[in-house]
Amino acid sequence: MIPVKAYAAQNAKTPLVPFSFERRDVGDNDVQVDILYCGVCHSDIHQARNEWSDSIYPMVPGHEIVGKVLSVGKNVKKFKQGDLAGVGVMIDSCRHCKHCNEGLEQYCVEGMTGTYNTYERDSKTIAQGGYSTQIVVDERYVLKVSEKLDLKAVAPLLCAGITTYSPLKYVGVKEGMKVGVIGLGGLGHMGVKFAVSFGAEVTMLSTSPEKEKDARRLGAHNFLNTKDGKQVKEFENYFDVLLNTVSANVPYEHYLKLLGLNGTMIIVGLPSEHPTVDPFKLLKNRRSIIGSMIGGMPETQEMLDYCAEKNIVSDVELINVDYINEAYERTIKGDVRYRFVIDIASLKK
Ligand code: NAP
Ligand code: ZN
Ligand code: ZN
Repeated sequence: MIPVKAYAAQNAKTPLVPFSFERRDVGDNDVQVDILYCGVCHSDIHQARNEWSDSIYPMVPGHEIVGKVLSVGKNVKKFKQGDLAGVGVMIDSCRHCKHCNEGLEQYCVEGMTGTYNTYERDSKTIAQGGYSTQIVVDERYVLKVSEKLDLKAVAPLLCAGITTYSPLKYVGVKEGMKVGVIGLGGLGHMGVKFAVSFGAEVTMLSTSPEKEKDARRLGAHNFLNTKDGKQVKEFENYFDVLLNTVSANVPYEHYLKLLGLNGTMIIVGLPSEHPTVDPFKLLKNRRSIIGSMIGGMPETQEMLDYCAEKNIVSDVELINVDYINEAYERTIKGDVRYRFVIDIASLKK
């Protein structure tokens, strides 16, 4: 077994604290990764605080992981010692269902295995995430990471990146389309970058008017302060696509009226409560609401390669691991520009 240092939530109510545990020995198909950086996703906070129910403790959050390969099992083909590697939101799935075979492992019929807050497929080992010094993962669920980009700014691509890239591709965002991104946080700022890079006209929908300058710097063409009723009215029936990244309990109605004919609102934000929907607002303009969960392994690799080619990374604030509890509070307040990333060197001291 491999001893690992980490930070963990011990229950829903108390701050994260230092924690030690062991990873499995490196199997024939495994990649052992020395973690260098791990992003802080709002999903980490939801789960550490049991906002989605059924949290498993102790919990080491973190699913935006980049690092260096320390060793590989004898069957591993994609990686060798010293390579850069990434691990995202899943570390396993059944590997034989229709969806797994199509590279849509996140929709595995038997359920994907998340990077933390779940049991591994042996049903007894608690999966533990990236606020830790090392991780051991089957090579199918490990991504190749380019040497070209700033590694700490690559980490958030493993969740915030793929979660926004995948649905924007799925709905066919391209030049001539009007896309609104709701919520300028970790996911939202990546959503803006991707939608702009796909050629769309992009509007940032935000409750924080002070973020307008940043939204425009990220490439947004318009900025809509969603607290200003007059501004909202101007955008009624306007959008082809809305990407809803809001982490808080906000009714979908607020945004549905902004969709034009055949407009689609993509839900990626996962608040604790379940919003209701007025069917009359859906019927008008033949609007639809779809959900989307991260992306499969092939598409996650495609996204990382796309980012390397286009020089797209996340805007990050690097923190030491002992700042994690403050980082959570600031994220909840929307006070992050635009992703906290833990420098795992601070855990190795
Ligand atoms: P984040 O960095 O905290 O950003 C969320 C943004 O939502 C905030 O920056 C804020 O933007 C907006 N917001 C917050 N409270 C609001 C309120 N009361 N009303 C309106 N807007 C509000 O979070 P994140 O890491 O991007 O994650 C966003 C959500 O996506 C979380 O619920 C997370 O669990 C979920 N998620 C889903 C997937 C998936 O596979 N579908 C993957 C990762 C994360 P403004 O200041 O601009 O208003
Ligand atoms: Zn995430
Ligand atoms: Zn499967």
